[in-house]
Amino acid sequence: MKYQLICKKCGHIIPSFKEWFAANQVCPQCGSNHAEVTYNTNYQHLTELYKSTAESFWHYFDYLPLENKEHIVTCREGAIPIEEWEYLENYAKEMFNIDCRVMVYRNDLNGGTNTFKDVAASMAASIFKENGIKEYCIASTGNTATAYSKYLSLAGIRLSVFVPNCVCEDTVNEIRSLGQNLIISSGNYACAKKEAAEYHKSNHVLMSAGNIDPIRVEAKKTMVFEFMRQLGKMPDIYIQAVSGGTGPIAVDKGVREIERLFPEVKLPKIMLVQQDTCDPMVQGWENAIKNNFHEGYEKEYPVIENPQTEVSILSTGNPGMFPIVAPIVKKSGGCFLRVKESQLVDFARIAKKETGVILGPAAAVCLAGFYQALAEKKIRNGQCVLINTGEGAARAKQFAAKL
Ligand SMILES: [Zn+2]
Repeated sequence: MKYQLICKKCGHIIPSFKEWFAANQVCPQCGSNHAEVTYNTNYQHLTELYKSTAESFWHYFDYLPLENKEHIVTCREGAIPIEEWEYLENYAKEMFNIDCRVMVYRNDLNGGTNTFKDVAASMAASIFKENGIKEYCIASTGNTATAYSKYLSLAGIRLSVFVPNCVCEDTVNEIRSLGQNLIISSGNYACAKKEAAEYHKSNHVLMSAGNIDPIRVEAKKTMVFEFMRQLGKMPDIYIQAVSGGTGPIAVDKGVREIERLFPEVKLPKIMLVQQDTCDPMVQGWENAIKNNFHEGYEKEYPVIENPQTEVSILSTGNPGMFPIVAPIVKKSGGCFLRVKESQLVDFARIAKKETGVILGPAAAVCLAGFYQALAEKKIRNGQCVLINTGEGAARAKQFAAKL
């Protein structure tokens, strides 16, 4: 086998996804649901891959947990262009006298559903195909739901999708048109998750293992390879809007996987952004700073019971991943940033005027984070800032109309 899974808690080795699925996605020895993939592969080949053009993240097949290329389900996702947005550089110079490079990772250009979730969905569909999985279920705030619906349809896998009642109509229509089984919860995202878990139990259907799901992490870690291929180096700062937290977990995994062989690959300062209408991680972080990162700080965070936000894909009120994400942010020297939901349209409007790109609301949260980082003096002269805009406005027509 080219890869294996290792339990993060007890170190037990799980030979492949076949055994991982058979054990209901937990470690057969200790029951932990947190496992990581390692490879028996020569990493020197990576530098060769950096020199050639890539059609998708499958360019890095040797470092992905799939044995047979015939099982790949792809719509050309992951190898998306990183653009330099000069108007943001000019703004930093004019307003704060900061010379920085601002690069934007355009997830709206992903070939599946124009979101950051396409790579994970492509990876999942391919792994399921290889391991004979016929049915799957997932709870999602929107983007993951649509991406998994599309890719699993392509692989002939039946998907039951549980979404919160605040889900937007465009998402509902798209999932139904893909022929998947959509269940709109009577409550918020937490309720949808509970309903999915019940369905998983009573029907013995495999369910997404959440933000630490090794499938999602392995797909998204290829971001690190793409930064190296397209920029020739790692950015100094990585900004992303955060709901669950797979993005930062994946960046950290990608860096850890290759940093010993390639010392130039360093973890960027990770800056995670939430809008003020649903910002439990920011609150948890502020609390940690106030208490000097006392022991166990990462386990203390608020739960926002009914987040009143129009950014439905960033509506995780219970930030269960904070204990994993916060230490990664701390290790990186980064921070959490709060932005105003009321300002999102303005930032997205400027982006549209300056670049022609129509961002979705969550991508606008990420962009607003750049302005906030400048205001909080978190960006310094000479730094390269990478903004990961998670999505376009394809399923946020109301938001797009306001632009
Ligand atoms: Zn274990």
